[in-house]
Amino acid sequence: MSEAASRAAELRALIADANHAYYVLDAPSVDDIVYDDWMRELEALEADHPDLRTPDSPTQRVGAPAAGQFAEVAHAVPMLSLANARGDDELRDWHRRLRDQASGAGVDAEGLRFVVEPKIDGLAISLTYERGHFIRGATRGDGRVGEDVTANLRTIRAIPMTLRLPEAEIPDLVEVRGEVYLPLAPFADFNAARAAEGLPTFANPRNAAAGSLRQIDPAVTAQRPLSIWCYGIGVAAGIEFETHSATLEWLATAGFRVNGDIRVVDTLDEVAALCESWESRRADLDFDIDGAVVKVDRLDVQRAVGAIGRAPRWAVAYKFAPTTATTILRDIRVNVGRTGALVPYAVLDPVQVSGVTVRQATLHNHEDLARKDLRIGDRVIVQRAGDVIPQVVAPLPQDRDGTQVRFEMPTTCPVCGTPVSRPEDEVQWRCPNRSCPAQIQESIEHFVSRSAMDIEGLGEKTVARFFEEGLVRDVADIYDLRAHRDALIALDGFKETSVDNLLAAVEASKRRPWGRVINALGIRHVGDITAETVAAVVPSLDALLTATSEDLSEADGVGPVIAASILEYRSSDANLATLRRLAAAGVTMSGPEQIGPPPAGPLNDATVVVTGTIDGYTRDEANAAVVAAGGKATGSVSRSTTFVVAGPGAGSKLGKAESLGVPIIDAEAFAAILRGERPVPERGET
Ligand code: NAD
Repeated sequence: MSEAASRAAELRALIADANHAYYVLDAPSVDDIVYDDWMRELEALEADHPDLRTPDSPTQRVGAPAAGQFAEVAHAVPMLSLANARGDDELRDWHRRLRDQASGAGVDAEGLRFVVEPKIDGLAISLTYERGHFIRGATRGDGRVGEDVTANLRTIRAIPMTLRLPEAEIPDLVEVRGEVYLPLAPFADFNAARAAEGLPTFANPRNAAAGSLRQIDPAVTAQRPLSIWCYGIGVAAGIEFETHSATLEWLATAGFRVNGDIRVVDTLDEVAALCESWESRRADLDFDIDGAVVKVDRLDVQRAVGAIGRAPRWAVAYKFAPTTATTILRDIRVNVGRTGALVPYAVLDPVQVSGVTVRQATLHNHEDLARKDLRIGDRVIVQRAGDVIPQVVAPLPQDRDGTQVRFEMPTTCPVCGTPVSRPEDEVQWRCPNRSCPAQIQESIEHFVSRSAMDIEGLGEKTVARFFEEGLVRDVADIYDLRAHRDALIALDGFKETSVDNLLAAVEASKRRPWGRVINALGIRHVGDITAETVAAVVPSLDALLTATSEDLSEADGVGPVIAASILEYRSSDANLATLRRLAAAGVTMSGPEQIGPPPAGPLNDATVVVTGTIDGYTRDEANAAVVAAGGKATGSVSRSTTFVVAGPGAGSKLGKAESLGVPIIDAEAFAAILRGERPVPERGET
């Protein structure tokens, strides 16, 4: 593989893991700026090497696939992302390209008007109204398929359940799009309450809104004061518009919440001025915005220029510079992570940064710290980069009074006291002690987490407790807990039922697929999505133990860095011992298990012929339904046909079926079989 190809694959893997953390788990794993830079690097690589642009590249796709806890909803019109412009120059570049594309498409691009809207930092949703009634709401998901969150959306009071229009003006069908968000004050309260309960806080209002909306229990959503701004229409039958601004007016009249400060302007200078004014008003708003969205007003122009990859060409998100504030750097402490990395972090005097109180900030690594020359006691500039994880940008040396002290990285691990070391090519100091309590606890927490072995009842506190008690000192010890049932019940705060539930959850986790097990091991750089691709090329523990770097590089997204990390993991005797114990405990050590027959459906092994008009289905849909239910759809009746579905207009196939004694059923019976409510008919039955 060429260098560019392997870097592109690696970027794709990094982005895929970050997307999963951000969109599915609502817990970003990297700063937005880092993420955006990865995207830009990948876009540039793909532009230079178009053959590297795969259809599943994150540059071509929106968001992340639905997490699976809700029913899926296919969007009739895809829900796209937005290209972004950082600063005035990029905004003007977008404008230039747009005009070229419009005239290339034969549209008169003179006198184009633009709509400038706030870019609300929430999550995009779609609201479908049939004959004026709200019938379905969905998240954006990966842009093509989202999650059905109808019940949860019904709890948001700002969403009308019926359109406020005279009977005659009600369209047959309309799908409205908008951004659900959590206003800032409730967001801050909500995070504070979670922190007080020892629960993880949300990184930003967007993730909090997404987490609140994607609750299994709508009663929980109802307690969160979510709101919505609507900004567009997807599908419409019975209404037509010429401009985007007319769409917005219609939305407001029909009872949707549309931001009152949206403006339509004629020139790019006015657009730029509006973007800046949104940026300066940002701190005064009661909702978080991370930019302004600029859209071409004329819908015919929008249609003519269309979309490229994951974003329309007719709109751009003008992204704001990250927000900053100044405060005092009280202390610098060091955290020991899962891989032993010593990560310094700043303890700050609490300060408000774009509506959120910041008390701590990441300092990344000691080199970064030294480069910035941060000293304890300094007044520093803090920013929420891309509005996710707060960072300390720089000190204000002019404010120093001589009491400030330089920070020295500890020479021993602050948790276990082992001398720390730094591999030559790395910036991070590490505690080399694999049995360092900090590392072990973090790795156990990762092992049991939702995207890994998903063991319910083993939260952070319980892990810490079991660790202190000496019950779990290695991830493999989890599978010996059963032998300590009595000791567990004797622990303060544990009861027989909770212990038995926990043991059952531990038992169930043994059946997690191989890809999840690889993720759970916590190998550096191997996140949940990379783990799946690794599992596909090393389908068993033996394969994992013997694979060469070249073998591993066969996995999509695995480059030299990730391959080396897997080899390093494997070279440790302690890790090998853990793997052997996990295998002995009966944890899945091979896969993927679904290479064989597809999962059973009501029509497993059945061969079905559809003829005539079947109520509720087109011919293709009926055949697709047969296949989806595990059956085979064929066009001609024979002795091996299991049954025929016949409707009005059925011809010679009916006669043939009758003569061969093949059962014939109608549309209703067919639907009942698909729902599993009726058995597949036996020969001689009709
Ligand atoms: P985006 O947030 O940059 O822009 C598209 C979205 O803007 C739309 O889908 C819609 O939800 C929203 N929007 C808000 N107001 C709007 C308006 N008035 N009109 C139209 N749309 C409006 O794109 P995205 O695809 O949602 O997310 C990509 C961004 O998310 C990245 O740039 C990155 O900053 C962040 N991200 C971060 C991570 C991470 O790990 N930190 C991971 C994934 C994404």
